[in-house]
Amino acid sequence: MKNKKDIVIFVIVVFFLQCQSNPKQTTNSALNQEQKTATMDTSTYFKSEEEWKKVLTDEEFHVLREAGTERAYTGKYTDLKDDGNYYCKACGHLLFTSTTKYHSGCGWPAFYDKAGNNAVITRMDYSFGMTRIEVLCKRCESHLGHVFDDGPKDKTGLRYCINSISLTFEKAATDKTKTK
Ligand SMILES: [Zn+2]
Repeated sequence: MKNKKDIVIFVIVVFFLQCQSNPKQTTNSALNQEQKTATMDTSTYFKSEEEWKKVLTDEEFHVLREAGTERAYTGKYTDLKDDGNYYCKACGHLLFTSTTKYHSGCGWPAFYDKAGNNAVITRMDYSFGMTRIEVLCKRCESHLGHVFDDGPKDKTGLRYCINSISLTFEKAATDKTKTK
């Protein structure tokens, strides 16, 4: 009888500990999320890689989330000259405008400036034995391309070399709309 009682107590203790540990984990991760939101820019956009896989094509996921590069001269915006804005393909954040786009001949869309201080972030990239500066969306931290210092000297001197697949272009409103 005594043994049986001990086992019952043991089972109750184990059950209690499990009950204790699970909610604790949930609370911690929820707290982390809250802290993350509270301390970062309010427009921060977070998705897990699994969630990104569901909303991006394989090619988009490879470039945006795995820092891939589309082949030169294959992107749909490389030679586009239309007036308008370029948004992040992943989260819709405004990144570049047609006013700073120029023909660099490098095979990818090139801009000599970003669309304001909240558009993009940069970080060092030492992959493939090179030292480059990676450009990422400031809102969702998706990979966009790289920035080099061989841009137009009469402007910023910078060349933001961006994958077309990382962008969504939205044409500027026509004159007809403007006069409304
Ligand atoms: Zn983004």
